Amino acid sequence: MINQIKEELAQTNTTLVAVSKTKPAARIQEMYDQGQRIFGENKVQECIEKYEILPKDIDWHLIGHLQSNKVKYIAPFVSLIHSVESEKLLKEINKQAKRQDRVISCLLQFKIAREATKFGFTQEDAIHLLKSEAFKNMENIRIVGVMGMASFTHNKVQVRQEFQRLKEIFDFLKNHHFADRSEFKEISMGMSGDYQLAIEEGSTMVRIGSLLFGSR
Ligand SMILES: *Cc1c(COP(=O)(O)O)cnc(C)c1O
Repeated sequence: MINQIKEELAQTNTTLVAVSKTKPAARIQEMYDQGQRIFGENKVQECIEKYEILPKDIDWHLIGHLQSNKVKYIAPFVSLIHSVESEKLLKEINKQAKRQDRVISCLLQFKIAREATKFGFTQEDAIHLLKSEAFKNMENIRIVGVMGMASFTHNKVQVRQEFQRLKEIFDFLKNHHFADRSEFKEISMGMSGDYQLAIEEGSTMVRIGSLLFGSR
């Protein structure tokens, strides 16, 4: 399965984040032995436990809702945080990164789904943040793109529209706020059920769990 997905992704230059949440370290090690290096976790505690026992050249991505008071635990090693959805959280990441003498890469998460439960910035809120003095003073974070989750629905038209919306937001931010920042290039969208659609709409990074590891 992983080789088939990898081939599909290679043809479109899309990065695979293997979402290993709830799966034991042994399963991650297996996939590591097949060459996979980027793994995504949604819980801080679980991510730390796996980081401690698995090879140190794994890139750990935090993809789930992150509470500010837990940032300090992942700050020493996390390689990308996908789920930045408030100024408060970004400030805390900056503070903890500074303590570690690191620059932590982040994606701004946008609310593109219609469901009330999904976290994320609105475009206006993000613009407000990007224009603020507070943001300009954050030297230990690097915004490398955007992330979004589509609605859980079989309605492909709706899912496609939501991915298109995230691409529009990315393009707007790229043109207006990150025109001279080559590192701002990632669009993290697409999961097991909708990654092909996401790639068609411009995804550069897909987060795939159950299709690789089996259902949870
Ligand atoms: C669990 C999760 C995924 C992967 O979901 P699958 O449907 O198993 O591929 C992707 N992104 C986030 C934010 C998740 O929490």
